[in-house]
Amino acid sequence: MYKKIDSGILQELEHIVGKKNLITERENMEDYGHDEIALSHMRNYPEVVLRPSTSKEISEILKLANKHLIPVVARGGGTGLAGGCVPVFGGIVISLEKMNKFLELDEENLMATMEAGVTLMKFHQTLQEKNLFFPPHPGEESATIGGIISTNAGGARAVKYGTVRNFVRSIEVVLPQGDIVKLGGKLLKDSSGYNLLHLMIGSEGTLGIVTKGTFSIMPIPKASLTLIIPFDDVSGALKSVPHILCSGILPLSIEFVSSELIIMTKEFLKKSWPVQVGNVYLLIILEGEDMEEVEKASMKVSEVCLSHKAIDVFVAESRDKQDEILEIRSKIYEALKSKTVEAIDIVLPRNQIEPHLKRLSEIEKEADMWLPTFGHAADGNLHTHISKFNLKGEYIEDWEKKYEDVRRAIHDDAIERGGKISGEHGIGFAKKEYLEIFTDKSLLQLMKGIKRTFDPNNILNPGKIFDLTQEKY
Ligand SMILES: Cc1cc2nc3c(=O)[nH]c(=O)nc-3n(C[C@H](O)[C@H](O)[C@H](O)COP(=O)(O)OP(=O)(O)OC[C@H]3O[C@@H](n4cnc5c(N)ncnc54)[C@H](O)[C@@H]3O)c2cc1C
Repeated sequence: MYKKIDSGILQELEHIVGKKNLITERENMEDYGHDEIALSHMRNYPEVVLRPSTSKEISEILKLANKHLIPVVARGGGTGLAGGCVPVFGGIVISLEKMNKFLELDEENLMATMEAGVTLMKFHQTLQEKNLFFPPHPGEESATIGGIISTNAGGARAVKYGTVRNFVRSIEVVLPQGDIVKLGGKLLKDSSGYNLLHLMIGSEGTLGIVTKGTFSIMPIPKASLTLIIPFDDVSGALKSVPHILCSGILPLSIEFVSSELIIMTKEFLKKSWPVQVGNVYLLIILEGEDMEEVEKASMKVSEVCLSHKAIDVFVAESRDKQDEILEIRSKIYEALKSKTVEAIDIVLPRNQIEPHLKRLSEIEKEADMWLPTFGHAADGNLHTHISKFNLKGEYIEDWEKKYEDVRRAIHDDAIERGGKISGEHGIGFAKKEYLEIFTDKSLLQLMKGIKRTFDPNNILNPGKIFDLTQEKY
């Protein structure tokens, strides 16, 4: 169905972006053919990589791609974990890397506007200089604004502030047929018809290419503390969570992780970890207007956890120590990556985490496959890592034979418990068959109908979220 890019089309593309922003040499396209998912088959070369500088250039590329039926994939930082930016049909990859300007800091409306290729790191740093703050914190700061909008990224702070969706006020987007439109505005309310802004957020580059984003921002909370609370087992840790929330304290984040994974990650990063006891930790970040408020909250949290068999409570006060703890938590995936086949991203009602973990431990034993799991204890989003190693730590030569059954069993249990396939990484290429299996048929038809309305020729990120045709690469 799709056409190959011939020399005539290549010339037209060069005319749009300029020679130095068009890449066709294989060795220079290597980085544009994959994201951070560990599945080695989830990569493919595009025919050409384009690095446009304006929305108008993107519009012209999409008009040309529609005319010649060429698939187009938008790429941000390539940090995705679902194969979303992999050009599975070849064609064009549009990298947003040159659209990286911070456009406006509007302190009166507390909103920031920037081009889609700005990285999270740059966003955070620019705000920090002004004592301002963007709460969502997906763990990898080389992700871009366009990427976090398109995946509706989450991260550890979602328990207090929600996901990226809660902060996006407006976007500029180039629609698949080349129209440049603005959705939303510097508004905190909007009941003006169907909300296409929220349809675009989380659509994984299948409905449009985001070129600018405006986000709500906040003043930096003046005080914060990070608590590490060790437990002998995960049950006490998880049972503490609803009691913390019912006590009226809403931490910035509540994560649970095993000491085994923390030790592995601190050794990987050559960092130190201040707590030597316990098998499972709750990592809790508290923030507030002043130290007195935060310390009071810390006492309440400690009381709750100690009454649920916490062994101790370690409190990190200095900025450096808190940052070091957060860094170790954020890099667990990096430390595990060489052993991992795939990081699962299911999300469950909070009270189903514990029974799901019990089922995981049964699956782990039945398959003799190590399934390290950690996650966001307060919002139910768990990351189980399907590994290539057995419970004795030995490499499983034929892990591919077990992988699909183990993966399916984990998802079956999550769905039975009222969960969903993805809490924050998106469906991308990696999970699309599960979306078909676990989604009501009439809802799937509605989703496919929306895609056809936006993109009748199915040129924008085809083969992602679901297949419109039977074709596979
Ligand atoms: C170590 C590590 C930790 C992570 N931690 C978290 C976490 O805590 N929470 C979380 O939610 N995620 C996390 N992620 C996943 C990843 O960082 C997020 O999914 C992020 O939102 C991807 O942004 P990106 O710019 O890298 O997008 P890419 O990977 O480049 O693309 C992701 C998807 O968005 C689309 N896209 C990208 N830019 C645009 C655009 N401008 N317009 C339209 N579509 C676009 C792509 O086509 C693709 O479908 C983590 C990843 C790593 C490697």
